[in-house]
Amino acid sequence: VASKETKPEPTVVKIRDLTIGGSHVGVIAGPCSVESEEQILQVAHQVKAAGATGLRGGAFKPRTSPYSFQGMKEEGLKLLALAREETGLAVVTEVMTPHHVDLLCQYADVLQIGARNMQNYHLLQAVGETRLPVLLKRGPAASIEEFLLAAEYILDQGNQQVILCERGIRTFETHTRFTLPLATVPYLHERTHLPVVIDPSHGTGVASLVPPMCAAAIAAGCDGLILEVHPDPSRAMSDGAQSLTPEVFAQTMETCRKVAAAV
Ligand code: PEP
Ligand code: MN
Repeated sequence: VASKETKPEPTVVKIRDLTIGGSHVGVIAGPCSVESEEQILQVAHQVKAAGATGLRGGAFKPRTSPYSFQGMKEEGLKLLALAREETGLAVVTEVMTPHHVDLLCQYADVLQIGARNMQNYHLLQAVGETRLPVLLKRGPAASIEEFLLAAEYILDQGNQQVILCERGIRTFETHTRFTLPLATVPYLHERTHLPVVIDPSHGTGVASLVPPMCAAAIAAGCDGLILEVHPDPSRAMSDGAQSLTPEVFAQTMETCRKVAAAV
């Protein structure tokens, strides 16, 4: 169902002012985790002013260690909804289990499936039963074939609004947190009508590498970017090292607009 042979024209996902696909590049930005009302409202206004149309923020966090901050849970979802009310940004947030799908649908505009859950087939079917767009992240050890078949689980339930997200894969390399393969973008565009978004924050794990990878992703023809931005990255409760300051995010958006105009 994801194949271009089934449907030659690109799928365009549109929710509020966030448009991803076709000739539209949508930018989703915000903190790794929702941490407080002040934090999420501040950063929402900042990313909106710089041109983002989607707001990211995790309320249920899949952390490597069970002793790390696990997110603000429903309280975090309420804060995301408040930020949407104030800014109009479309809320993109992760759902970790089928049991939470109904709850997430009350607050989210786009359901994010995290990299760790790319092959959680019951979760994929559960979000496939909703009619909210789904941002499906590539598993760090998944082949493109496995990634596309994961998308089929969602499509097969009748939900056609699937956004594919390359967020980096696990390789022998250690200079970056993951290895970000940008050839994924033109390759997937040859195979599928689904839009392709790049996550250079998780893809590199290093804030200084994020702006050039955004420019490169736009040049490669991506349909969107999802970026971690924090009002004070040094104090972030998760993923501070890869989070942009609002100032750097605004400069990055400027550069992206120039690259988009040039390609
Ligand atoms: C995130 O978006 O904060 C996240 C946990 O991403 P991933 O699932 O790609 O690791
Ligand atoms: Mn993160």
